[in-house]
Amino acid sequence: MTKCELLIVGCGPAGMMAAIYAKRADKDVVVLDRSTPGGRVLSTYQVDNYLGFGRVSAEELVLKMVTHLRDLGIEDRYGKVLEIVREGRGFRVVTDNGDYLAEAVIAATGTKSKPLGVEGEAAFVGKGLSYCAVCDGIFFKGKDVVVIGGGDSALEESNYLAGIAKSVAIVHDLPDFTAAAGLAARVRRNPNIRILTSTAVVGFTGERVLEGVVVKDKATGLSSVLPAQGAFVYVGNFPETGYLQKTGAVGPDGFVAVDRDMKTKVPGLFAAGDVTKKDFRLIATAISDGAIAALSAVKHLDDIHKAE
Ligand SMILES: Cc1cc2nc3c(=O)[nH]c(=O)nc-3n(C[C@H](O)[C@H](O)[C@H](O)COP(=O)(O)OP(=O)(O)OC[C@H]3O[C@@H](n4cnc5c(N)ncnc54)[C@H](O)[C@@H]3O)c2cc1C
Repeated sequence: MTKCELLIVGCGPAGMMAAIYAKRADKDVVVLDRSTPGGRVLSTYQVDNYLGFGRVSAEELVLKMVTHLRDLGIEDRYGKVLEIVREGRGFRVVTDNGDYLAEAVIAATGTKSKPLGVEGEAAFVGKGLSYCAVCDGIFFKGKDVVVIGGGDSALEESNYLAGIAKSVAIVHDLPDFTAAAGLAARVRRNPNIRILTSTAVVGFTGERVLEGVVVKDKATGLSSVLPAQGAFVYVGNFPETGYLQKTGAVGPDGFVAVDRDMKTKVPGLFAAGDVTKKDFRLIATAISDGAIAALSAVKHLDDIHKAE
């Protein structure tokens, strides 16, 4: 059992920012992640809306964040958190790599991609179907791909894929995109991208690997198959909160409700970034949450130590 004052679950932008603020307040902080540090920033190619960086590769941005963390002597450790339960005035954090006893916890575990939920989807994952263009896009060099979705992620990743694939078709079930106007305009100008709005994806076809995406025109009700060797799904995200269920901090929608100080309803448990209930999920909002969560956690730790 490892003891620490503050344990941060998740080493994405929110968790990293929180760790930096906690370390600067001289707290004994541990950051755990089940994967390489960087979080979902690593699932995109380029970032052009983070202050001070202009247009930067996601990999470079993450490298700078992680270097900042490590230069301050903060050690990020491997560990998939399985469960958090109250123990004494703190929490027992159960992981697949040993248990921790922490006086305070910040949950910064973000979200994961939501599946589309149509026939054939599960069977084609890894056989043409993916939820991460930057991870798998290169396998579709010179091939036809379909992107499903109409939000910022779908359009950003379509622009990226258009530089690799022979053709990109965006299929969106609403009459118009929900992405930022500038991004939508960029997609519309791209000669390698075809747009099908008011069109639903109803299935995937292929013998052993993906060969086509079955779509239905919502106006005519007619179905057809778009030939494609690759399909990328961007239809929303689920919060990563399974490990928090026993704390009572997770809302009915699966996200963590926090107040303006990033406090959950459980004393000593804070949350930051995409995992929280909010309208805008961006790097900028995640790091703001992370800073606030850490400052609140520091105050909580100082208060309990004073009361001893
Ligand atoms: C395709 C795509 C493109 C994007 N493009 C942009 C963009 O251009 N600009 C922008 O501002 N934002 C962009 N975003 C959004 C941005 O990436 C997120 O808002 C941001 O990463 C949220 O940070 P976070 O720290 O809250 O969560 P995340 O980045 O999701 O990090 C959470 C971390 O927690 C870890 N974790 C999860 N569960 C556990 C567990 N049980 N135990 C241990 N570790 C766990 C994960 O491995 C992950 O490292 C994009 C997102 C996607 C998906």
